[in-house]
Amino acid sequence: MTARNPLNRSLEDGIRHLGFRKWYERELLSSHAHMALALIAAVAMMASFEAFHGASTTEKLLNSGFVVVCAAIALWALRRYLYLLMHAEEMANQANCGQCQAYGQLRLQEVADRGPQAQRLVPVCCKRCGFRWSMQD
Ligand SMILES: [Zn+2]
Repeated sequence: MTARNPLNRSLEDGIRHLGFRKWYERELLSSHAHMALALIAAVAMMASFEAFHGASTTEKLLNSGFVVVCAAIALWALRRYLYLLMHAEEMANQANCGQCQAYGQLRLQEVADRGPQAQRLVPVCCKRCGFRWSMQD
């Protein structure tokens, strides 16, 4: 799993403070912001390539640095976009209540002692019917 960005809450923290639907919406907004960053970095990289025409040796060296930096930013942003999008979709696929089929109507269950294997399981409860299950984060 990719290390979490401090701007993105974990699923458990998100359900606790925002509710599942708000958390999901923010994850999608964040992932698409990363997609926009990847596009901007790709355009900046192409502009750096364009600036090679008629440039002096020093400028070409500087442009090479810009190309490398823009490529690194674009790859990082693209990777982050795909991770956030896939993670949000994976969680959304587990957000239907098994009993009443309500989508995203979740409340976090408070479990006193969770073992090390259960750290990635987020125990939730349906707000409508009280059905309990665990989402795999
Ligand atoms: Zn339910």
